[in-house]
Amino acid sequence: MHRSTRNKSIDRRRAIGMLAGVAAFPSLAARLAAQEEADARTSQEINRGQQPIRIRKVKAIATAPNRIRLVVVKVETTEPGLYGLGCATFNQRPLTVVEAVDKYLDPFARNRNVDNIEDMWQNAYTSSYWRNGPVLNNALSGLDMALWDIKGKRANMPVYQLLGGKCRFAVDCYTHASGSDIKQLEDSVRRYVEDGFRHIRIQLGAYGSPHLSTQPDFRDAGFGQPVDGHMDPGPYLRMMPKVFEHMRTTFGEKIELLHDVHERIEPIQAIGLLKELEQYHPFFIEDPLSPEQIGYFKHMRQQTSCPIAMGELYNSPHEWTGLITDRLIDFIRVHLSQIGGLTPARKLATLAEHFAVRSAWHGPGDVSPVGHACNAHLDLAIHNFGIQEGPRFNDRLQEVFPGCPEVKNGYVHVNEKPGFGVDINEQLAAKYPLPDHPGYWEPIRRRDGTAVRP
Ligand code: MG
Repeated sequence: MHRSTRNKSIDRRRAIGMLAGVAAFPSLAARLAAQEEADARTSQEINRGQQPIRIRKVKAIATAPNRIRLVVVKVETTEPGLYGLGCATFNQRPLTVVEAVDKYLDPFARNRNVDNIEDMWQNAYTSSYWRNGPVLNNALSGLDMALWDIKGKRANMPVYQLLGGKCRFAVDCYTHASGSDIKQLEDSVRRYVEDGFRHIRIQLGAYGSPHLSTQPDFRDAGFGQPVDGHMDPGPYLRMMPKVFEHMRTTFGEKIELLHDVHERIEPIQAIGLLKELEQYHPFFIEDPLSPEQIGYFKHMRQQTSCPIAMGELYNSPHEWTGLITDRLIDFIRVHLSQIGGLTPARKLATLAEHFAVRSAWHGPGDVSPVGHACNAHLDLAIHNFGIQEGPRFNDRLQEVFPGCPEVKNGYVHVNEKPGFGVDINEQLAAKYPLPDHPGYWEPIRRRDGTAVRP
């Protein structure tokens, strides 16, 4: 192309672009200004004349006071001193969540109005287009819970008040008793009964399953890693009814017994186990089937009236909706940060209420005190509360997270401070960096070395 012709062509394109810009700019600017004005007006009404408060920064804080990899999200605002905290703990992949928060959620959320939790949740949820995975759900939960914390602080109310107020004076919870044999387990149960617990989950072996020997065949053969655990379903299935019979004989009918199968057996074996345990009136049997075997619940339901609690590994509404609406489970026990926080959890609770499914939110050590507080605030406010997996806070955890809920006589009590009532001492948190070990879930194998799903 001749030089002058090319220049003319470029000039024409520039001119069209500028004209288009001039034409488009006022309408866009006007729209933005109108939006800003409406936003400010709405917020001023809500804030009783105050200016809207915006997000200044969203950051992830990783800390491991008990060597469990906790991730908490702090949302700072344009209001001096006003911030919120949310739980984003994914013990097995903490750094991926930190990255998702700092690199993606922070730029997404900056300058948005802190008032609009639902709108922000919906847009953050789809901002990755692909969704419902554990990493992004945890990051989203951190933002979501922190916004509820901020809303509570702004309203000068505990979060349970924002959800409708208390349905009960405190949160009844279960604790975890274990032992390597029946006698040890009995001693463990007795200690918790003396501590005031009414609901006790009984587990035999390292976690819920007898480890048959310290030298299984796969280890003799040099298969797998030296740290890999061992579990075979046959001895486990024959032992558990004896464990329940022993505990009922020893402690009578006054305590509620729970048990976690942890999805480690075949579906047909789980059905057989529940049928056998039914006679001992368990409060519930937890996670009898892996998430991959949801289709088996309708067969299980037809065979036994043993109460079923399910869902700590669920991430997506597709995993729980059918189980609830088809009335195939009795307790939904999702991990709140794993499903995206308080916003989806309160909707899940409402759905479940209509189908007589009660709550039993997952509450292990790899939930931060902020997450435990969120569990408890929701527990207090929903009618279809079932039971709460009880948290444990040692001195170190309470120093790093002032305001942890209290567990007394088997009940969780939240403090009555605005928001979730739990703070973080960031200087102290920094003294407990994440352990060097990545924190993989401990592998378990059958006698021949076959990997078992947890
Ligand atoms: Mg479990």
